[in-house]
Amino acid sequence: MMYNSTRDRSVQATAAEAIAAGISVEGGLFVPSTLPQLSFADIEAMIGQSYVERATTVLSRFLGDFTEDEVRECAAAAYTVERFGSEQPAPLYTLKDGVHIQELWHGPTCAFKDMALQILPHLMRVSAGKTADGKEIVILVATSGDTGKAALEGFRDAPHTRILVFYPEDGVSPMQKLQMTTQEGENVGVCAIRGNFDDAQSGVKTIFTDERVRARLAQQGMQFSSANSINWGRLVPQIVYYISAYCDLLKNGTIKMGDPINVAVPTGNFGNILAAYYAREMGVPIAKLICASNCNNVLTDFLTTGTYDRNRPFHTTVSPSMDILISSNLERLLYHLSGANDGMVADLMKQLADNGCYTVSDEIREKVTALFAAGWCDDDDTKTTIREIFEQYGYLCDTHTAVAVRVYEQYRRDSGDTTPVVIASTANPYKFSASVLEALQGPCDDLDEFARVDALFEKTACPIPKPLATLKGKQPRFTGCCDRDDMEQAVYDLLHVR
Ligand SMILES: *Cc1c(COP(=O)(O)O)cnc(C)c1O
Repeated sequence: MMYNSTRDRSVQATAAEAIAAGISVEGGLFVPSTLPQLSFADIEAMIGQSYVERATTVLSRFLGDFTEDEVRECAAAAYTVERFGSEQPAPLYTLKDGVHIQELWHGPTCAFKDMALQILPHLMRVSAGKTADGKEIVILVATSGDTGKAALEGFRDAPHTRILVFYPEDGVSPMQKLQMTTQEGENVGVCAIRGNFDDAQSGVKTIFTDERVRARLAQQGMQFSSANSINWGRLVPQIVYYISAYCDLLKNGTIKMGDPINVAVPTGNFGNILAAYYAREMGVPIAKLICASNCNNVLTDFLTTGTYDRNRPFHTTVSPSMDILISSNLERLLYHLSGANDGMVADLMKQLADNGCYTVSDEIREKVTALFAAGWCDDDDTKTTIREIFEQYGYLCDTHTAVAVRVYEQYRRDSGDTTPVVIASTANPYKFSASVLEALQGPCDDLDEFARVDALFEKTACPIPKPLATLKGKQPRFTGCCDRDDMEQAVYDLLHVR
């Protein structure tokens, strides 16, 4: 099983090389050269398995230069009862007939990023052992809030690894900020930047692909890698939970083998929904992939018209982890749908970098619209949805999940498609207490963050996750903030490189 770069097919890497490197040197993303297939018999065999076993089955197919024992050891170290609260880290909650919410936020940082970032450090350790010849790995992360914390928590005190996180100063929720600035561990660094997520992400990408910076790090015995979903090792564990959801629906008799399901995903960087696409391409009977956006609806437009245009205002919304105008992982989809046309992908990505805009061919647009449905919803509708779901079903969901529920309902109404759906629930509601509380009972500006948490608990009796409750009163360790152009220097400072 080999990997190629989306921008240069002649680049070949093993899984370990792709994971250790994070991104290909010419700026492309690693993609599998062929997709492993799951037959119905393979899926059948997974029904009775634990999540760790299901993960071992799926990941082994992709991680060609890992032994099955190495994969199992990584999965078992990641998906523990201690970290995820049960042996099923991604349980389904049935909201109503045919509508299943997959809760992906039972990990230590209360967002779905833990599903990948608890295992990535283990995959990275094994990969580095195979490839990095003793170099220390420096993980550089740009975050819209949840990746940063999940990566810090996953990589803290991991041997031969350092981790540096950049987040937009005003683009994360108070809880997300506190989670990051209070991070413990000897090998961690956190810095705010004046700018939005796209600034942070493109800053990180620039540092990554700058030969001068790479050389300077190499002199110190260090090598960069990424924990963003540009890293294949971030994406591949996410494929597992969609397959696991299908197995769970079979197991509890909701569907029969071969029955189609739809999947709805609140989307930002296009990583999570791309993982669902991969599950589909492997043979899981997924019919429609429903892509839900907030007001930053660049993907809704692309998936319906074939034109990607980031030249539009950037909106700060109540679902900040989806406040993104450059969805990195779309590049992987374009590569696959074009039949591995690396020249075309490189050209489109150059147009995006130069003009902020590109249009795909009719052929690709037709493939996209056959696979995906897309919609978006604004902050008012997001809050209304949180309130309605709570009032009708007694179920409390966060702002991102609410966007997906709303867009799914629109899709179902407009299309008449009543195929059972799995909706990805990406965060615990207490991570966004202000917006969730406001949705239930109006503005709460006079309350501080933990008073909001308490008020939300009083109103809903929904349990407060311990990792959030214990943040109360903690003093921030990392208070630095820099301009986008100073990120490179901030990296040297955080690494104590002169
Ligand atoms: C990261 C994130 C998303 C978006 O996921 P992508 O893989 O970037 O599309 C949605 N919701 C939450 C809570 C997130 O943290």
